[in-house]
Amino acid sequence: MDKQLDLLINLQDLDLQIQQLEKKEAEIPLQIKELQREIEGYKHAYEAKVQAVENLEKNRRKKERELEAKESGLAKLKDQLLSIKTNREYQALLHEIENIKQEISQLEEEILLMIDESESEAKRVREMKLEMEESQKLCRTRIEEREQGLVSLRQHKISLESSRETLRRQISPEWLKQYDKLRKSRGGLAVVSVKDGSCQGCCMSLMPQLFQEIKQNDQIYSCPHCHRIVYYNEEREPEAVG
Ligand SMILES: [Zn+2]
Repeated sequence: MDKQLDLLINLQDLDLQIQQLEKKEAEIPLQIKELQREIEGYKHAYEAKVQAVENLEKNRRKKERELEAKESGLAKLKDQLLSIKTNREYQALLHEIENIKQEISQLEEEILLMIDESESEAKRVREMKLEMEESQKLCRTRIEEREQGLVSLRQHKISLESSRETLRRQISPEWLKQYDKLRKSRGGLAVVSVKDGSCQGCCMSLMPQLFQEIKQNDQIYSCPHCHRIVYYNEEREPEAVG
């Protein structure tokens, strides 16, 4: 294989690897942010639940005060019964007492339901707290993993960049210039293989004569369509048998 072609293929490979690492390097902080939002989300859901339980208790205390007021009202009405003069007034008062008794029994029922609800909600709050702590712990572990991943990724990138510099020094300035220009204008892909007679950069078919020449890999050819540097990869396309 042509020495410069071989170096250019390796350079393209390194640049692609570095490009992949840079993509991940940009993604990881976003993943960490997402996990931090998740941790906050658990906290907010828990706090909302705690607040809901507090509101429930507040409402219940309000009902209990209402009940107390009704009960003392009832006691007063019962006292009044003793000083009633006429039957009509007596009947009216009895009717009023009956009403207030009904209201009291309804309030008692409501309060009992509220106590039940409070108890089950308080239980749910305790469960949520455990779930929240467990999930947050998991998120924090994931954040740590990603932070460590970022550190090793950067170390890997530095070593690839240093290999790239070494490689670039071995390539002739003309080819390097051509390579950089192509990489810039062709979406990061300057050197591509030819497979089944087609350029793997632009997918266009090459003339059979040119394909045969490229197969030799003994000099550098360009795709006539996209101008990328092309080479033949034997591993990818074994010779037809027979
Ligand atoms: Zn092409």
